[in-house]
Amino acid sequence: MATTAKSRKTGMYENVKNQFDKAAAVMNLDESVKKILSITNNEIIVHFPVKMDNGDVEVFTGYRVQHNNALGPYKGGLRYHDTVDIDAARALATWMTWKTALAGLPYGGGKGGIQIDPKKYSTAELERITRRFTFALGDNIGPEHDIPAPDVNTTPQMMAWIADTYMSTKSPSERSKNQHVVTGKPVGSGGLEGRDRATGFGVVVTIEAWAKMKGISLQGMKYIVQGFGNVGYWSAHFMSKNGAILVGVQDATGTIYNPDGMDPEDLLQYQKENATIHGYTNHDFDSDKFFGIDCDIIIPAALGNQITEENAGSIKAKLIAEGANGPTDTEGETILLEKGVEIIPDILCNSGGVIGSYYEWLQNRNGEIWYMDDVIGKLRRKLEDAFEKVVHTSEEYKTDWRTAAYIVALTRIEMAYKQRGIFP
Ligand code: GLU
Repeated sequence: MATTAKSRKTGMYENVKNQFDKAAAVMNLDESVKKILSITNNEIIVHFPVKMDNGDVEVFTGYRVQHNNALGPYKGGLRYHDTVDIDAARALATWMTWKTALAGLPYGGGKGGIQIDPKKYSTAELERITRRFTFALGDNIGPEHDIPAPDVNTTPQMMAWIADTYMSTKSPSERSKNQHVVTGKPVGSGGLEGRDRATGFGVVVTIEAWAKMKGISLQGMKYIVQGFGNVGYWSAHFMSKNGAILVGVQDATGTIYNPDGMDPEDLLQYQKENATIHGYTNHDFDSDKFFGIDCDIIIPAALGNQITEENAGSIKAKLIAEGANGPTDTEGETILLEKGVEIIPDILCNSGGVIGSYYEWLQNRNGEIWYMDDVIGKLRRKLEDAFEKVVHTSEEYKTDWRTAAYIVALTRIEMAYKQRGIFP
């Protein structure tokens, strides 16, 4: 998918800063708070050796950036991808601070990962890499301090390895009370029913809220999805339940387009069997024209910086629902807003994931087991509330939805700093 966008490996943090500066100006954010939030709290870089299957030793570099913890422990995923570097980790950690604050969660923001393509490693190697990374991070993470979760290319299985490794470093009587050091675990290992679909479900709840506000139905609406991993698939699954028609999909393995619609479940099966979407029902399509496909809604659910000045002009959709973090860069967004395309910003649109993580964390912390129905119901309420708050704030400040979402988040953080003051 990255083939469609200009490659701006160092630009993500710049986008966050642009978005932050704009919101700070519109809301007149307190200058001291602005200074604090303009920079990350901690940046941890670890180098660690891992034995490969062939006996060789490889040294990996892992990142964990902790942006801010004014509202609670650092929270956010770990990603395994070639694009992971300190700039990406800073940007993604900062977005987590806004995301958790907007959702009203008692968390701050963090993010990290390793610059690897996991497809190049065996399962046994990935296990050793993940465990050794966890060990290298040591007490820089912790259930009441910094709580990782899945992100691009990281799985519930990996979260189970993280939990097990972290817990194994504690004395036996302390182990089980550390289970919530990581969220997104498999259900059998402290994971939450519904956490797997939480992000995609949340994306669709925000799209439903948008449609309701407009007085329109999603039935028969055409949409495209970039990325067919956890977020892309589950978004498509819940869009189908609304009768919307999936006409295009793009991921790292290919681009497909069928104006008559495609079944997400069937595509998932094909992807499982072939490890690619390329060739699905012979509907391969030009990757450069993906975002220009004739449709009503675009769900970018892959990487950052995908909608840029190079392709924003070609977009025909009326709504972009940002399942990914930072899929639209500053220049791309300017073009979209001028064209009247609406954007449900990432920190709102994809916040179902971290909200689900919060429920998992509570479940572990309280020694409870929650039901899927309860999780789904709570997620919907929280997301609908956040959506309404953002729309209301955008009217109040006469600004776009992203800036409004920032204002809701920043207002909460600003209040915490004002109430508590700065130590000492
Ligand atoms: N990686 C997801 C995100 O970007 C989830 C983070 C979490 O659950 O902590 O929001």
